[in-house]
Amino acid sequence: MSFSSLGLSKPILRAIDESGYSKPTPIQLKAIPAVLSGKDLMAAAQTGTGKTASFALPLLQRLSSGAAVKPNHIRVLVLTPTRELAVQVAQSIATYGNHLSLKSAVVYGGVKINPQMMKLRSGVDLLVATPGRLLDLASQNAVKFSQVETLVLDEADRMLDMGFSDEINKIMALLPKKRQNLLFSATFSDAIRKLARALLNNPLQIDVSPRNSAAKSVKQWAYEVDKSKKPALLSHLIRNKSWSQVLVFTKTKKGADELVRQLKSDNLSAVAIHGDKSQGLRTRALADFKAHKTRILVATDIAARGLDINNLPQVINFDLPKVAEDYIHRIGRTGRAGLQGEGISLLSADEVKLLAAIESLTKQTLVREVETGFVPKHKVPLTRQTKPKKPKKPKVKRARREVPKSAVERKTRGKKPRRGSTPPDIGTSNGRGRQRRDSNSVTTKQGKITKSKRLP
Ligand code: AMP
Repeated sequence: MSFSSLGLSKPILRAIDESGYSKPTPIQLKAIPAVLSGKDLMAAAQTGTGKTASFALPLLQRLSSGAAVKPNHIRVLVLTPTRELAVQVAQSIATYGNHLSLKSAVVYGGVKINPQMMKLRSGVDLLVATPGRLLDLASQNAVKFSQVETLVLDEADRMLDMGFSDEINKIMALLPKKRQNLLFSATFSDAIRKLARALLNNPLQIDVSPRNSAAKSVKQWAYEVDKSKKPALLSHLIRNKSWSQVLVFTKTKKGADELVRQLKSDNLSAVAIHGDKSQGLRTRALADFKAHKTRILVATDIAARGLDINNLPQVINFDLPKVAEDYIHRIGRTGRAGLQGEGISLLSADEVKLLAAIESLTKQTLVREVETGFVPKHKVPLTRQTKPKKPKKPKVKRARREVPKSAVERKTRGKKPRRGSTPPDIGTSNGRGRQRRDSNSVTTKQGKITKSKRLP
């Protein structure tokens, strides 16, 4: 199906063409007609699926008709959790609306408020905002909401994770009751479902990605390594595998800065992006990374939210995330728009609980490898969920015995096999499961058991 069959107008089709999109992504196919018809929407879509265009294109079209926006008013409000995502969404909207005479703007904290107030003065059709700054502007009467036709909550799960629920409630109280609501979330927790019930009116539900799963286009595996050896292993992998543009996640801001220092001392160009950096530094770091001027971008989860980097080949979890859902968000930075990507975790013994949570969420067992020269002294335990289930006894009708039971048979019948005996369908010597550590196949299904094979 093509974009032209979705009922979009010529100026929008022209902008789509100029963006180089040949056909709609699955979420665009479903969401565009729904949003055009004015329906509420609840979409489970990871970043990288084309979700921004799925709401921006039809909303631009709806805004092309209707009353002109009044001074200091807005007609569509898009709320995003981070400044980076806000800027990115605003850029997409500007691109898609290139041939329309609509006004759009973006507002976020960490920069001067006055220029943002000036922009709002003549009214803005489409405003992208982070919640805190929007409330600041509202309290100074710089933005008024009585003309709002549509509210979009982008990456709603992250907004709740970042503690924005109070701000969201305050903003909702300022909006007109009658409006269209669109909620996008990578994962659907109970909190998100509660928010959706409060916000949405008979929504169309779209689920383009299997819930809580990572994009299939991302190959994932982990290197077992001692914690202290992680920086050296990372430098080694980047060099040995000639990775040219690597996004690395650390748990903390301090950890990000420290890793950048170590990578630089290994003569690798790296820059950190996190909440303690000024907006100017963050914007520059991202621009340099996108332009291949910096090889490695080290980020914390919050700062990296919504980063859209074309053709990003590798995402590295230097530390596993504390919140399992972040694993999905992190590796969602690669393998975007159908391209192949790699999500690689550096796994130390103390992180096995975090790994187990990730594996339960994604319902897959991460393949493990050991790199030559980095064999860990501290063994990384296996995760529980991979322990094999006891093989079911086949339900075969017992044939009539032709010979009388021997005394030994009578004793052992119905008892568990002795330790050391091999169950027929498990190839390990002690019947325990092992995560795969070979490099040929990079994903295993949950519970798939393969023989342990440590690399040298
Ligand atoms: P998003 O999920 O909105 O963050 O989009 C991820 C990336 O996909 C962005 O770089 C978009 O420019 C790109 N994109 C969006 N829609 C399409 C499409 N129909 N065909 C190809 N690329 C697209």
